[in-house]
Amino acid sequence: MLLKIEDLSVSFRNDDGEVNAAAIDVDLELERGQVLGIVGESGSGKSTVSMSVARLLPSPPAFYPKGRIIFDGEDILGMPLERLRQLRGKRIGVIFQDPMGSLSPLHRIGEQLVETIRLHEDVSKAAADAMALEWLGKVGIRDVAVTAKAYPHELSGGMQQRVMIAMGLMLGPDLVIADEPTTALDVTVQAQVLRLMKDLHQANSGVLLITHDLGVVSQMATRLAVMKDGRVIERSDDPAAFFAAPSHPYSQALVREARKMELK
Ligand code: ADP
Ligand code: MG
Repeated sequence: MLLKIEDLSVSFRNDDGEVNAAAIDVDLELERGQVLGIVGESGSGKSTVSMSVARLLPSPPAFYPKGRIIFDGEDILGMPLERLRQLRGKRIGVIFQDPMGSLSPLHRIGEQLVETIRLHEDVSKAAADAMALEWLGKVGIRDVAVTAKAYPHELSGGMQQRVMIAMGLMLGPDLVIADEPTTALDVTVQAQVLRLMKDLHQANSGVLLITHDLGVVSQMATRLAVMKDGRVIERSDDPAAFFAAPSHPYSQALVREARKMELK
């Protein structure tokens, strides 16, 4: 099993000491070659779970009252930070909704890619430069030399998102965490970016795809989980069957809403 989330609860403690349970008793499994889609309305705990897998939640305020996250046999919540840093970027790739939150505004795109490559791979500057340009090409950026020299704010949202995808996938991670990877983009660009993610992740890697968009899940996921109020309320190993006949009343409402949106 590539990723096993066992009985995981995640809470946030606010300044007054009040505790908000954002994820409760979550059990999820992801095997290599699978795309696990997590759907649910805003605030249902999707990002809390996905960020926890890379231990990217600021702690405090986040804490873990119970549960475990096992990535390829290793205990994510218990491991030293140094080990975690080795895994992030290299074996666990992350693609988030907001590229500006992950790209440094102060460094050129090319420099950022090269830095990530050289942090994890023992390669020359020239080899890393070449790899960075190659990946900018792979994510569909035409003028790669110009883009490599640009600062993030000089790129459109769609271009920034492509850079994030290059960053998340270029080191061939075993696990890709994509949290609303296309939500901020125009509908036409969304489809392209999704196709890219689908084509470029390694066939034997696993993808954790978080989205509130059921259309995206129906295109991409090989299995899915529905979250509501911090809990997983329905799971399916057969997305087509799920969309045809969701069992939980809440899932039924979600699917009905999505159909209405499609018809608009
Ligand atoms: P989703 O990704 O499904 O929209 P989130 O995981 O972001 O949901 O949020 C789940 C709950 O956790 C919400 O009630 C949200 O307010 C809370 N939450 C998320 N991040 C924080 C944080 N940094 N501090 C306090 N509460 C948070
Ligand atoms: Mg979210």
